[in-house]
Amino acid sequence: MILDFLFPNRCLGCNQLIDNSEIVCEICQDKIHFTHHRFSENNSLKEKAALLFPVENAFSLMFYEQESLAQKIIQQLKYNHREKIGKNLAQWTIEKLNFEDRKPDLIATVPLHPKKLKKRGYNQLHIFGNILSQHYQIPINHHLLLRTRHSKAQAKKGQSERLKTKNTFRLNEKIRDKHILLIDDVFTTGNTSANIAWEILKNAENVKVSLLVMAMDA
Ligand SMILES: [Zn+2]
Repeated sequence: MILDFLFPNRCLGCNQLIDNSEIVCEICQDKIHFTHHRFSENNSLKEKAALLFPVENAFSLMFYEQESLAQKIIQQLKYNHREKIGKNLAQWTIEKLNFEDRKPDLIATVPLHPKKLKKRGYNQLHIFGNILSQHYQIPINHHLLLRTRHSKAQAKKGQSERLKTKNTFRLNEKIRDKHILLIDDVFTTGNTSANIAWEILKNAENVKVSLLVMAMDA
């Protein structure tokens, strides 16, 4: 294709030319700090989340360190219109994630505020979630939750502002008797996941909430 010639695909790690379907070369992929979490067992994400809400199971694909390749990949996905990176992250997740006997019944993605969705043009979790949904044969609902208030990027917020933007999610549908897998991109403070989990746990009957993220603070 002419576009491939004009805009050749380059590795996000070392900048060498790579196949169009890839985001990093093999050498750089080997340098990514994958967590090797097991969903069915205690792990570092489950421990952190459990401090904030009663989490059933948890899995993070990568560790998110400053200046790391994982950070760069997620920033490209979120802020540089590279929605298709979600597909590569889903493929890596499929290679590493086995639900064993803990398979959830429903996948829900963290919603963007409508204003932000309009500005970005896509929710960075949708391609990722859809591929996981297909592969693991778990229904997915992108509208289970509504984001009711705009919140600023977390990195720019002070503690007082962070408190102001609590409880910005609302459960949009009646659900019961479900094990829900909540998908988000990054787990840092865990505030977003905790707000959503509590909204689900308080308003739905007999539900369990598990968590899956692309990356977490190491
Ligand atoms: Zn590379």
